[in-house]
Amino acid sequence: MNLLRTPKNLAGPELGIPALSFQAWYEARHGEAAYAAIDRIPRLVWAEYLSWYRQFLKIPVRYRTRLLQIEPADGFFGLHLEVDGRPAVETTRKIVLGTGFTGNGGPYIPPVLSALPRNVLSHTQDNIDFAALRGKTVAVVGAAAAAFDAAGVALENGAAAVHLFARRPSIASVPITRVRGYPGAYDNYRHLPDAIRWHQAIRFRRAGSTPTIDAIQRAVAFADFHLHLAAPWHEAYVEGGQIVAQAADGTFRFDHVIAGTGYFVDPSARPEIASFADRILLWRDKFVPPADEEDPFLGSHPYLGEAHEYLEKTPGQAPYLRDIHVHNPAGFVSFGLPIGDVPSMRRDIPLVAARISRDLFLADLDGHEERMTGTIAADFSDEIYASAVWKP
Ligand SMILES: Cc1cc2nc3c(=O)[nH]c(=O)nc-3n(C[C@H](O)[C@H](O)[C@H](O)COP(=O)(O)OP(=O)(O)OC[C@H]3O[C@@H](n4cnc5c(N)ncnc54)[C@H](O)[C@@H]3O)c2cc1C
Repeated sequence: MNLLRTPKNLAGPELGIPALSFQAWYEARHGEAAYAAIDRIPRLVWAEYLSWYRQFLKIPVRYRTRLLQIEPADGFFGLHLEVDGRPAVETTRKIVLGTGFTGNGGPYIPPVLSALPRNVLSHTQDNIDFAALRGKTVAVVGAAAAAFDAAGVALENGAAAVHLFARRPSIASVPITRVRGYPGAYDNYRHLPDAIRWHQAIRFRRAGSTPTIDAIQRAVAFADFHLHLAAPWHEAYVEGGQIVAQAADGTFRFDHVIAGTGYFVDPSARPEIASFADRILLWRDKFVPPADEEDPFLGSHPYLGEAHEYLEKTPGQAPYLRDIHVHNPAGFVSFGLPIGDVPSMRRDIPLVAARISRDLFLADLDGHEERMTGTIAADFSDEIYASAVWKP
């Protein structure tokens, strides 16, 4: 993508400190007029801003460090890491999973595509070799922003033609989650009854995720871009080195297919948490939807507590779960937004931070009580007011 999808003026990582905002940073470098002139934030400029934010705030980031497995222990966790390719174990008492879209699941490949060999199939999440698509006929399955961006990049790299297949009869153009962005709904969403949160999540699923206007325009600008509406794929197989696709609107042959089909949520699919994933409370364990709102995709999302913590499927079996806070899109059903995105930051990061502070403070209460009641040196002696003391 060239531009962020979210509007430039949303409060984000600055968390209420205007001087730390993207706007302040950008205006300081380029002036107020330059900020006013941009419509949405260019992706690489956003990356520069985040880099400045990290350096300015001296946020320590440990690169080349992969978390392999979380091992619950007595009052803490063992973190099995790979640091610079070498195994290491460290301990921690609290964990925030800021692990992005795949952090509680993975890229979703629909069954109709799953049998295709990986040399002809990519997911928008992959590091796709677009240069290799030069002169090729490419299919994109899916019709949200990533699908349109992938189509545009393939054409910019010289693909002979790109066909984008949407299941719906038109491209989703109603940003469902935006209407609940007003303060009452935004701030209090987590307090809504389960039935309402589920209904809102279903509405979003059914309406579909909206692509940005520039992503659509980017693809549509090419004469060799073809949009197939109401055209789900029924079957796909490889024949003579090409993919044969039987879609609702005909049979087509392609050299490569890109799945712009989003992500699934299933904690057991993540090695970091797989050993205790069956103990995590999921929406399907907690809530039985009405028959016309059943949805296994939403049902597999974790049912999170108020500070994004995992809850136990069976109380008492895995109390350590409350010390793992999920700050990734798996929080969508519980919190009504894709968590981790800019729109969620202002509300959710302070919630998680406050709970971590509270939990650690209370867990260490003995030490804190001692510290709070300890003797400290006086700021001054009686001498400084002795001369004024009334003597009858
Ligand atoms: C194509 C696309 C466009 C988007 N556009 C926008 C937008 O315009 N505005 C917006 O607000 N949001 C957008 N989003 C959502 C975006 O993902 C988030 O806003 C943002 O990247 C979230 O940051 P994050 O740090 O929480 O997660 P991510 O940026 O996804 O980062 C997660 C990190 O965790 C790492 N990680 C995962 N597992 C492990 C592990 N076991 N050990 C160590 N590291 C691990 C990953 O390697 C990754 O670096 C977009 C998403 C996509 C896919």
